Amino acid sequence: MSTTAFNALRENVRGSVIEPDDPDYESARRVYNAMADRRPAAVLRVSQTADVIAAVRFAREAGLPLALRGGGHSAPGFGTVDDGLVLDFSGRRGVWVDPRAKRARAEAGATWGDYNHATHAFGLASTGGIVGSTGVAGLTLGGGIGYLSRKYGLACDNLVSADVVLADGTFVRASAEENEDLFWALRGGGGNFGVVTSFEFGLHVLDSVHVGIVAFPAASGFEVGQFYRDWLATQPEELGAFFAYHQAPPVPFIPEEWHGRQVCLIVGMWAGDPAEGDARWRPVLEAGPVVGSLVARMPYPFLNGAFDEGNPPGLQGYWKGDFARELSDDILRVAHEFGATVPSLATANHFYPIDGAVQRVAPDATAFPYRSVGFSPVIAGQWESPADNEANIAWVRSYWAALHQFTEPAGYINFQDADDQARVEVNYAANYRRLAEVKTKYDPDNFFRVNQNIKPVLLGQAAPEPEATPA
Ligand SMILES: Cc1cc2nc3c(=O)[nH]c(=O)nc-3n(C[C@H](O)[C@H](O)[C@H](O)COP(=O)(O)OP(=O)(O)OC[C@H]3O[C@@H](n4cnc5c(N)ncnc54)[C@H](O)[C@@H]3O)c2cc1C
Repeated sequence: MSTTAFNALRENVRGSVIEPDDPDYESARRVYNAMADRRPAAVLRVSQTADVIAAVRFAREAGLPLALRGGGHSAPGFGTVDDGLVLDFSGRRGVWVDPRAKRARAEAGATWGDYNHATHAFGLASTGGIVGSTGVAGLTLGGGIGYLSRKYGLACDNLVSADVVLADGTFVRASAEENEDLFWALRGGGGNFGVVTSFEFGLHVLDSVHVGIVAFPAASGFEVGQFYRDWLATQPEELGAFFAYHQAPPVPFIPEEWHGRQVCLIVGMWAGDPAEGDARWRPVLEAGPVVGSLVARMPYPFLNGAFDEGNPPGLQGYWKGDFARELSDDILRVAHEFGATVPSLATANHFYPIDGAVQRVAPDATAFPYRSVGFSPVIAGQWESPADNEANIAWVRSYWAALHQFTEPAGYINFQDADDQARVEVNYAANYRRLAEVKTKYDPDNFFRVNQNIKPVLLGQAAPEPEATPA
């Protein structure tokens, strides 16, 4: 497309339209995952909702694929697209808090770091991701697992309303009262239904928490994993924690001789009575030969920013994710085998609990159906050099293949990669049929397709028969 053609868009927006000859183009085209090395025809740095309306109409008329970028953390790099238009919300990161109503409204470019900073000033919080630089947008639309999930549900369970620009450029609000079908689909259905310009969340009282980060040698991972499983099951929902394998990062509480060596970890926080904090973490400190630990009372946003440095943008990335009914010994054995060979400092293998408040929401109450599974494992391969791509991708794939013998066919869409498109239908189980119908109503031409794609039902063709959502 020529520059002249994008001038028509420029005339209708306040944000900047960046084309390949622009000095900002190289940085504007990039997302978190450097492997998504794509060259869009243009990137619009969105300034206001009017820009979004103009851009949606422009891209439709020009027949351009449209990519939507919040925090840019999508593993497959859905925040950028070859030869298309990118709507980049990184200039729209405002978060407004209404402490009396216990509500927050976040713009589509806000990160969880922005969000937690804004809400913490009022002693309030809601479920967000475990890394501060992850976007509110993509994480919430896919579901949103975090330390507060056990107590307050997924990020999408805390969503009260969303402002949305639809595929035809019209603007609507989606909530329990307005466009209820769209609101249902946005809570787990990803970026399939429109461009969300802002998200309104309900907030909960939360100030400081008892943070626990406890590392053990990977060699004791099987026993520590068993401990974690049995211990967490006895803990109230105020205890949010995941089990992990990593290479030990160079942080002060891990002795230098362990830096870069494989460890397993229990990471989380106690958000209940402060007087109980130390006692809650004591059994973890006795669960095996501790390599290093940090147990301390800290502001809630601290933990959500603690891993930002270890997850810098610009690494190569390849991810796989599943759901698991339980952390069975079979799963823990596989994790132990592969945990001992975690190939890079930024590669992570986490097992997140899906229980408590997440399970109290009915599987068909939102688009996110897998609410009774128990755990959401993710194998997040992240490394520096493209020369290591083949070896690292092979490691993630063989770990996943071994794990997948003991997990569900489905997984969490936000932990899956571009080669998981064939799993989209199974990921939504019984909810897929309704999602396809909502997609058909709001985006019949599949204009929003740079995502884990839900296909509209073709004219005259019935929506797919629902799979039973596991009880
Ligand atoms: C370091 C790291 C840590 C993570 N931790 C967690 C975690 O703790 N919990 C968890 O649940 N997930 C986690 N994830 C996965 C995360 O949920 C997904 O990567 C998610 O897509 C990120 O959202 P984003 O806005 O940053 O991504 P983006 O790449 O900007 O967006 C991802 C997709 O979301 C959709 N989207 C984005 N903006 C909009 C919009 N305005 N309107 C409509 N659709 C839009 C689009 O389909 C887009 O392609 C993590 C990812 C990374 C890289």
